[in-house]
Amino acid sequence: MLSPIATGIYAGIGALGAVGLAAGGFAYAAMWPASQIFGQALIAPRRAGELALTFDDGPNPAWTPRLLDILATHDVRATFFLVGRYAEAEPELVRRIAAAGHLIGNHSWSHPNLALAATLRITEELERTSEALEQITGVPVRYFRPPFGGRRPHVLDTARLLGMTPVLWNAITNDWSEPSAEKIAKRLKTKIDDHEQRGRATNIVLLDGGHLSLGANRGPSVAAAGQIIVTCKANHRFVTLDAWS
Ligand SMILES: [Zn+2]
Repeated sequence: MLSPIATGIYAGIGALGAVGLAAGGFAYAAMWPASQIFGQALIAPRRAGELALTFDDGPNPAWTPRLLDILATHDVRATFFLVGRYAEAEPELVRRIAAAGHLIGNHSWSHPNLALAATLRITEELERTSEALEQITGVPVRYFRPPFGGRRPHVLDTARLLGMTPVLWNAITNDWSEPSAEKIAKRLKTKIDDHEQRGRATNIVLLDGGHLSLGANRGPSVAAAGQIIVTCKANHRFVTLDAWS
């Protein structure tokens, strides 16, 4: 059994990391999205009816194009937190994401757990990624999501120094372990309804890529995004994160 806190950790860093980090409350707080003790990060405002679809770990030539097709079909704009080294490998795909009107954010160069990294390393990871993305798209990068949700004050401070707003989330599943699209969408809908009842917007994480390799299978995640749009579009507004800050 996982407590809500342990579930949050699992969601962020995977079972192996959770074992190592479960030692103290300090470590819990560094990895748990709802925790704000290490400084403020954008999660979701009190705006019932608004949903932000955010996609991490791309661009992924195997699945991001299909996702872009689904978003275009429904005229929905989303936010993509891209891994810098993948962006460098797939500049045309990055341009396609930007040209479709989606917001592009920084998800570090190589997807390390930055909560454990020195400030110089964090600066290098973030700066290199923003520079690559800006060179490809011509658009300044204003949002940063820490890999695995791992953050400490120096992680968030470094992002702010580089002109970016740190972003977390309030709806995540284990979509990277490839359950069915229906299961992913159902779990997300439960979270959306819960936030809705409390008058809050929902910041949804799905993965269109995988941090371990370019080309990860994200079929279920991409299909789940389509299902969430179909289920929610009649009475929700899909926004990109710049609508919230
Ligand atoms: Zn990630």
